[in-house]
Amino acid sequence: MNVLLIYPKFPDTYWSFRYALSFQGKRAAQPPLGLMTVAALLPASWHKRLVDTNVERLKDSDLRWADVALLSGMHIQQPDLLALVRRCRAHGVRTVVGGPITSSIPPQNLEADHIVIGEAEELIAELARDLEAGSALPLYQAAERPAMDRSPLPDLSLIRMKRYSTMTVQYSRGCPFHCEFCDIIEIYGRRPRTKAVAQVLAELDQLYAAGWRGPVFIVDDNFIGNKIRVRDLLKALVEWQQSKRLPFRFITEASLNLSDDEDLLQAMKDAGFTSVFLGIETPDESSLAATQKHQNTRRDLLDSIAAIQQYGIEVMGGFILGFDTDREDVFDRLVEFIQKSAIPIAMVGLLQAMPGTQLFRRLAREGRILHTGDGNNTGCELNFLPRMNATRLVEGYRSVLRQIYGREAYYARVREYLSRCRPRYRTHLSLANFRAALLSIWRLGILDRARLSYWKFVLVAATRYRRYFGAAMTMAVMGYHFQMITEQISESES
Ligand code: SF4
Repeated sequence: MNVLLIYPKFPDTYWSFRYALSFQGKRAAQPPLGLMTVAALLPASWHKRLVDTNVERLKDSDLRWADVALLSGMHIQQPDLLALVRRCRAHGVRTVVGGPITSSIPPQNLEADHIVIGEAEELIAELARDLEAGSALPLYQAAERPAMDRSPLPDLSLIRMKRYSTMTVQYSRGCPFHCEFCDIIEIYGRRPRTKAVAQVLAELDQLYAAGWRGPVFIVDDNFIGNKIRVRDLLKALVEWQQSKRLPFRFITEASLNLSDDEDLLQAMKDAGFTSVFLGIETPDESSLAATQKHQNTRRDLLDSIAAIQQYGIEVMGGFILGFDTDREDVFDRLVEFIQKSAIPIAMVGLLQAMPGTQLFRRLAREGRILHTGDGNNTGCELNFLPRMNATRLVEGYRSVLRQIYGREAYYARVREYLSRCRPRYRTHLSLANFRAALLSIWRLGILDRARLSYWKFVLVAATRYRRYFGAAMTMAVMGYHFQMITEQISESES
């Protein structure tokens, strides 16, 4: 059996990092880890090819070769996924769609021959058997969420690592919290499941043996969802990193209660964690309570962020506008908060009611759902009727983005981040880094209309922060991406 694994394109959003990646000659931020894991679960006798359309074209010759196409994606990839399904079917290739998208879009809207709802470890063996026998069913739905010790080593041989800026490893799935808007807990559950320490180390060994050095994203829903087990992993990570002279720097996602645990922070620092993404959502305590983000309440948010930064860990923040409790002053308060937080990478989005979430159900009961949305919370289209005037909300959202990604405001946050975190990345002398430095001078220092701000920042970085100069330049390039996407959002129709 020839199986073609296809990953649909992501649209351009803050999360795509497209403009920053172009400096290093990379084509996408991360490889399709889910499909690489699915590939490892398929029968060893099957022939496999993986086409990630974010980094390469799907060719007709691939479709002629394939007996079956397996596609996976998230809600936001729906437009490209549908186009790919139709193309496969036009070529007479049987299609199977799985991944998180099948939990939020009704099966009939995905137009595939077979739909798989649930996690691969639970379903792939049965699906593969049926496909071989020619008796596959239209729908496979997992009866339960599998233990992660059944998850195999992802098939790294199917990708070309150098096309990506970051490699990925998954340690856990699920999150113990209860945020009203969150689809993670609906799909992966509120009881975090983890891999064994040995499984994670085997994945790191595989990446190391394949020659990878640099950033590794631990793509968990909440890395500290099980605070007891994660300590064992961190202990092992520290030893592993030290035995190999720190080849990786880790990035992950966690909840803000990380700031309460100094031992955990110290262990993360020792293991080589340099960035963590946190859902902060809003500085407004009443909105946090209303959206059931209780782990962010009863604390000074800025102090909690600073407590993490003290350990040299950059905080990237997720923020949301459009809660029912948002008042007219929320826009100014959010800008002020982000500026004080020393969070350079602030992912501000409009609230989206994702299908299947508590929020979606409540708004449906209240008659406020407009449509199922596109999963893109950095667009300007609302999929529900907000309490605030919708036009005012979108205007306020755009104004927040323009302010926080104005060059001076952005560089001010980066300077504060450099002084708090003192990020000393090991910068590898490579052609890609040399090219990135030259391109950054050309695009930001010569072509960009805000070049004066850039040179002022370079001067400060080279004098006051010269030990962190590599990180400063990386942040300048990241800022360029956010500025370009902000311009697109500002100009887009709402
Ligand atoms: S902390 Fe994050 S992952 Fe956990 S429930 Fe809230 S939004 Fe979801």
